Amino acid sequence: MPSGVLVIGEVAQGRLAPITGELLGAGRRLGVPGPLSVLLVGPDPAPLAAEAAALGAERVYLAQSPALPGYWPELYLAAAEAALAQARPAIVLLGHTNIGRDLAPRLACRLGAGLAADCLELALEPASGLLVATRPVYGGSAQAEVVGRAGQLQMATLRPRAFAALEPDPSRRAEAIPLALSFDPAQAALQVKERVAEAVAGVKLEDAQIIVSGGRGLGGPEAFAQLVELAGLLGGAVGASRPPCDSGWVPAHYQVGLTGKLVAPDLYLAVAISGSSQHLAGCSEAKAIVAINKDPSANIFKVARYGIVGDYKQVLPALIAKVRELRGG
Ligand SMILES: Cc1cc2nc3c(=O)[nH]c(=O)nc-3n(C[C@H](O)[C@H](O)[C@H](O)COP(=O)(O)OP(=O)(O)OC[C@H]3O[C@@H](n4cnc5c(N)ncnc54)[C@H](O)[C@@H]3O)c2cc1C
Repeated sequence: MPSGVLVIGEVAQGRLAPITGELLGAGRRLGVPGPLSVLLVGPDPAPLAAEAAALGAERVYLAQSPALPGYWPELYLAAAEAALAQARPAIVLLGHTNIGRDLAPRLACRLGAGLAADCLELALEPASGLLVATRPVYGGSAQAEVVGRAGQLQMATLRPRAFAALEPDPSRRAEAIPLALSFDPAQAALQVKERVAEAVAGVKLEDAQIIVSGGRGLGGPEAFAQLVELAGLLGGAVGASRPPCDSGWVPAHYQVGLTGKLVAPDLYLAVAISGSSQHLAGCSEAKAIVAINKDPSANIFKVARYGIVGDYKQVLPALIAKVRELRGG
């Protein structure tokens, strides 16, 4: 009888990626009968078992990759299948990240499982114990609750930063279980030839607690220098709506929205962004949106907690000066 939750963890630069803690936190809070397990894949995942335990894992499946460090679909599929065969979970959770978005549908298809993608909330249906996942639909204009089928493995990908990790407790212990993998890199249909790391100065957009984002109303690439300055002062990251990316003012990976990054920071400062549904699909889970726009009827003000009606050319320098003053120079 399947029981418990299996989290497909992620490792970045030899540490647990923040999403792993968030998935474990979500798995713990669900209260599903059975153990909370996590799968860690990497060239040397064993030292991370204690960190995973501190974040709530009771069993840590360790898949040592012989291949390049990093994501390789067939390697992760083999590792996930090996972990599933041992853990026999009722529910599998992945991040709605580059890895999870690629791996989850492949795995769900192989296992004949139901998959709810980009979930913002999870609960259990009291009578059946089935997973009830809340996820955005129609580009984020509405949310739907989806329920798995009885007797079927239930899978979900969770939006980064939509779920809180548990407070780490180093006294928590987990059983570490090494997995034997039947993965032969030479036989893999997909060969990873090279990895090119995205050059990110400062905080990664998906992990940032504060994001300062700019839109077409900035009028050109020069104004982004002020956004970079403000984000630097606040310890945040810079994002953008689609037009500045399409116009080459900023790199494409700055884009927030339906076809860009999905972010859920504590503070999202939208500067000269109108608030299209496609943009809001990527940032509406922010705890607070603050908008600066010269058009009082701009849609962004409908979702903003605080709004400043004005020209960014006047508002931003004043804001930067005030933040500088509050930070003591
Ligand atoms: C399939 C599809 C997918 C898409 N995916 C995305 C996506 O992922 N992300 C995304 O962002 N968009 C996406 N779009 C595009 C989206 O529809 C909008 O066109 C886009 O979000 C608009 O960007 P914007 O708000 O920066 O520009 P605009 O809508 O042009 O708004 C500019 C705003 O700046 C304000 N402004 C102008 N000058 C100033 C000033 N001096 N001071 C203050 N305010 C000023 C204006 O009042 C206006 O509100 C997608 C579209 C499609 C069809």
